[in-house]
Amino acid sequence: MMSDKPSNPDRVQPPQVADQPAAAAQTAACEAANWGDFVQRCDNCRNCDLGSSRTNCVVWRGALPAPLMLVGEGPGAQEDLEGKPFVGQSGQLLDLLLQANGLTEQQLHVCNIVKCRPPGNRQPSEEEAQACRPLFREQFLFVRPKVILLLGATAYRYFTGRRDGITKVRGQWIENNGYFIMPTLHPAYVLRDNRQRDKIWADVCAVRLKLEALGLLEPLQFVPAMPQGRKKESN
Ligand code: SF4
Repeated sequence: MMSDKPSNPDRVQPPQVADQPAAAAQTAACEAANWGDFVQRCDNCRNCDLGSSRTNCVVWRGALPAPLMLVGEGPGAQEDLEGKPFVGQSGQLLDLLLQANGLTEQQLHVCNIVKCRPPGNRQPSEEEAQACRPLFREQFLFVRPKVILLLGATAYRYFTGRRDGITKVRGQWIENNGYFIMPTLHPAYVLRDNRQRDKIWADVCAVRLKLEALGLLEPLQFVPAMPQGRKKESN
């Protein structure tokens, strides 16, 4: 059933502003209010047909702002139910690869090209991506990433406007206006063909190294090893 209310109130929680000098705290509080307003506008958006079939508008998870932004194509069934991106099997694999590289939700922001689930998990259309673009652009300005990881061919096409095959361009940096953009395979593709795992792993490693080279993360104190499972084992 369609709902205007976020199922996860966490989604609009402002960033922490405690323990900051007064001026910085005021700026952060102002940004937090603006972010809450932004998420509310996403929740109320009906700018394309996807707005009428969604359960939840799926805006983000992770940190705000963040040096790394991960962009997928659109929410799937689980994401639609929970109101958060990449929380299904693909998200579990993605988190496994990120965490093995020392990357946590405190350092990254996860979102999609379109914020509402395309029925039947189809790809979002050109028109739907276009309709959602102003919200995506606004979100990008809030996040202020330096490095962007594009997950899959659709995210690559709608983010860059290019139509090369993802297997051809993955693993190659695109530098644009001071941003570093890495296209990679969608984790769902790797779940279907585990022989591709070393490729997405190599791309996540390259992203980690780029963040370190830019001085945005401290160097890792261990050599990351590619995890073999599909999700992080619980203790
Ligand atoms: S997909 Fe984007 S443009 Fe379409 S209804 Fe959802 S938030 Fe609005």
